[in-house]
Order: sequence, then structure tokens, then C-alpha cells
Amino acid sequence: MLRVRVAVALVLGVVWVSAALAQPAPANPLWHEQKIKNYLPHMTSPEVADLLTRTDMVILPVASLEQHGLQGPIGTDFLSGLERAKLIAQRTDVLVAPILFPGNSPYHMAFPGTITLPSETIQLVYFQAAQSLLAHGFKRFLILNSHAGNSATVQYIVDRINQETAGIAVELDDAAQPFLKRPPRQGPPAFDRHGGVSETSRSLYLTPNLVNMSVARTAPLTLRPHLEKILPEVVAGDPTATRVFLAEALKAASTGKGTSTKDMTETGVWSALDVKAATAERGRDETEASVNAAVAFIERWKQLRPSGLK
Ligand SMILES: [Zn+2]
Repeated sequence: MLRVRVAVALVLGVVWVSAALAQPAPANPLWHEQKIKNYLPHMTSPEVADLLTRTDMVILPVASLEQHGLQGPIGTDFLSGLERAKLIAQRTDVLVAPILFPGNSPYHMAFPGTITLPSETIQLVYFQAAQSLLAHGFKRFLILNSHAGNSATVQYIVDRINQETAGIAVELDDAAQPFLKRPPRQGPPAFDRHGGVSETSRSLYLTPNLVNMSVARTAPLTLRPHLEKILPEVVAGDPTATRVFLAEALKAASTGKGTSTKDMTETGVWSALDVKAATAERGRDETEASVNAAVAFIERWKQLRPSGLK
């Protein structure tokens, strides 16, 4: 009888242990990311050392945290730049090193959630981050700007790296421009900028579950009369009209120009198109065109200047 009891206890013990072993380890229910190749926050230090044997190139996305209409997340620019950089890095070896979420967005500050940093701060943080990467052996920097308000800051970061360090820097979209095959335009030319059809389409492709199209709404443009008057020339692509329009528009309320986002659009969408026309298909086509162009530029740079040169 005792032997039977011992045997039963043993069998139960084995069943209990194997049931416990079959349980998956507890995991954060919010964690759904896969490990992404060449994406610095996901990599181990030995993996970074291994990547350095194949490339000395790094993409630094420069982003923003700012309102994107009623439909788009505050992180739209951060996410769109980062996701594009990750897609590029799956096609050709290059490190993706995100540094900051926010950028220079003072003209969106009337909308809750926007965070803006002075351009002096942004350039300094990226310049210092580049110095860390240089110390590890990265030499070539591709600055991927996903927010137009950072344009001047990004040019300064590129210039500081080139003039003051052993590093070599370019602005990625600028460098990739000759390789860009734009998808055919849909419809006649139209004013469509911040949070508009094009940008929202890209978000619908890159981060679909973060866009709420059920509330998407374009507000009528409320431009100052002299800006409204030259808008048709801007839409037609007149370079001088576009230059003077953008020099004055989208500026902080504190400048007194009356051209902050809130002054020009109640919803934050700065477009003459109905933003509901955004589609993931258009977003895919635009994203693929820019990723292809960036990869083509990087491959060409690798040919023109092999990795490992001092
Ligand atoms: Zn944006």
C-alpha cells in the first residue's frame, strides 16, 4: 500500500513540475515589439561591435513631439522618421540611433501636448551624441530629419560634425534626392502640408493603429490676407512665392506674425485637402520611394568611400 502511495505521489509530482515548466514566463502585456536588426536600443554591445566590422554608418533621426491634427499622434514625426530609418537599415547595413523625441516646434504650442526645444539645445545634444558614436568607431552620419521645423538645426548639426570632428555627415533626404522616384501624384496640385493627406497617409502605413480617422477633419485655412493671395503661386510650385510664404508662415505666436498653426487652422491640419482622403496605399508608395532612394544613396556612398577608411 505504501509503495502505491509513493508511486502516486511521484507521478503527481512529475505532472505538477511539467505543468509548471509549460507555463510561459510572465511578460509585460504591453510589450509587442520584435527585436529589430541594426536598431541601437534593441542591440547588445557585442552586436554593435559586430556591426562596426561591416559599416561605419549611422542614421540619426531628428524628430518632434507636436500636434498632428485631431487624428494623428503627437509622436507622428518621431515615429515616421524612426520607422523609415528602421526600414532602410533592413536593406543595407547602417546603425539606427534615435537620440531625442522632441524637436523645434514653437508654432504648435497652442495645441496641448506639443513639446518644443530650442534649436541650440537640439544641435548640442546631437553633436555630443555623435561624439559618443565617433568614439566607438562610427564615422559617417546620415541625419534623417522628419520635421520641417528642424531644417536649419539639422544643417547646423551636419556642418558641426563635418567641421569640428573626424566624422562625415550628410542630411539623408537631401543626399537621396537624386535617387528619388516619386510615385505619380494623385489629383491636381494642392496645398497639403502639416498633418494633411500625404503625412496622414504615411502614418496610416507606418503606424496604423495610432491614427484615428473617424475624427480626422481639415479646418478651413485662416491665413493672413497677403499670404492667402500668394497661395495659388505656392501651390503651382513658384520657388520664390514658396520661399517667402514659408519664411513667414508657421512661426511662434511670440513673433507677432500671426502665423502660428492655431492662427492658420483650428484643427491643426495645415492643408487645403480633405484629410479623410488619406490612405495606407499612398503612404506605402511614398514611404517605399523614400526608403529606396535612401538605400540607393547609402549603397553609392559605400562604393565611393569604403568602410574602414580613417
Ligand atoms: Zn509631422
